[in-house]
Amino acid sequence: MSRIPRIVILGAGYGGVVTAIRLQKHLNYNEADVTLVNKHDYHYITTHLHMPAAGTVSPETARIDISKLIDEFKIDFVKSTVAQIRPQDKKVIMEDSTLSYDYLVVGLGGEPETFGIPGLKEHSLNIRSLNSVRYIREHIEFQFAKYKQEPHRTDYLTFVVGGAGFTGIEFLGELVNRLPKLCKEFDVDPTLVKIINVEAAPTALPGFDPELVEYATDLLTSKGVIFKLATPIKECREDGVILANGEVIKAGTVIWTGGIRGNRLLEDAGFETTRGRVIVDSHLRTKEYENVYVLGDCSIVLNEQGKPYPTTAQISIQQAEICSHNLIATIRNTPLKTFSFTNKGMVASLGRGDAIGVVGKHKVKGFTAAMMKRAIDVRYLYMIGGIPLVIKKGF
Ligand code: FAD
Repeated sequence: MSRIPRIVILGAGYGGVVTAIRLQKHLNYNEADVTLVNKHDYHYITTHLHMPAAGTVSPETARIDISKLIDEFKIDFVKSTVAQIRPQDKKVIMEDSTLSYDYLVVGLGGEPETFGIPGLKEHSLNIRSLNSVRYIREHIEFQFAKYKQEPHRTDYLTFVVGGAGFTGIEFLGELVNRLPKLCKEFDVDPTLVKIINVEAAPTALPGFDPELVEYATDLLTSKGVIFKLATPIKECREDGVILANGEVIKAGTVIWTGGIRGNRLLEDAGFETTRGRVIVDSHLRTKEYENVYVLGDCSIVLNEQGKPYPTTAQISIQQAEICSHNLIATIRNTPLKTFSFTNKGMVASLGRGDAIGVVGKHKVKGFTAAMMKRAIDVRYLYMIGGIPLVIKKGF
């Protein structure tokens, strides 16, 4: 390679943006050409999307302009949608142009996994992007407005949340806080509003500490959530869901949070995938191409028991740190680092001022846990944008 190497990063989520920021900090001028491609000119804080989705905060709070994060003298930013990855030709096809690369980093995030449940893809809403949560927020308000036009249609005031994992529980925590205000705003009797959580597993937050799970479900139940656990959804229709036990729930809103798969572009490109996700090697590269790294929700890293780690922002950020190191090491011909995940704990919000979590070996709940969640958010803002971003966004 006589010219300087070209690194292309696809996706400006947690994995992509942190990789870009690390490269801009540690690569010397003229060591590589780095291009970041994303379909929007902003990065969004995905871990906050449950709040604007429920309407408790503005979508703007989760949005950060990419121009504020990267130095355009060091990183080229291309706002475009990736249509195809051609690893055999070292090319990425976008909606309006083509990019060639020597090294590729794929951080395109995930897509909702509907497990083949009929109608779920067509009729449910998903908390995945800034645009999707803007839509959900408007949709929820519209249900209240519609009910006022057709007061016999109390089903407009029924909200079904499919899935009681992190996203589902965090969204429920926000929704129960928002609905009383909406009832007041639209002059709706609060006893008519139903929030139903449907989960196929026998417990909410599977794998999480049982005492904390009980705290979360008790709190949400006391605020009006009806949990239907060990109850798979059999079908989703325009006007609600049919459960595996035959129960029909008529609802104006179905929000599906029950599963994530990798971005389809990876399987379309011929990489071996499991639910659209690529099992990466210990350096985070694909087994087919040594010059292709895959991060975040598109990737699978196996734990010591051979099981995939859950898809989280935390693992995506840690992967980005190793990926950027390995790209620089490859260019400089120095040793690569192997990836190993350090679980720093997880905190799930239950609405403003309340949360549950495990941090290190400590269980936390209530206000303390909510403060820890805030500290995690602030730490991330500091990592990507320093003190100015913390002051601007501080949440
Ligand atoms: P993403 O952050 O999803 O970013 C992917 C990027 O790729 C996006 O910018 C997208 O616009 C772009 N993109 C996608 N397709 C294309 C295309 N074709 N062309 C161009 N650009 C494209 N994790 C935690 O660790 N802690 C939490 O508390 C937590 N809470 C969560 C709460 C919610 C409501 C949700 C939805 C998720 C939560 N997660 C949490 C999970 C976490 O957000 C994800 O695991 C993380 O966002 C994955 O990062 P990523 O870099 O793989 O992709």
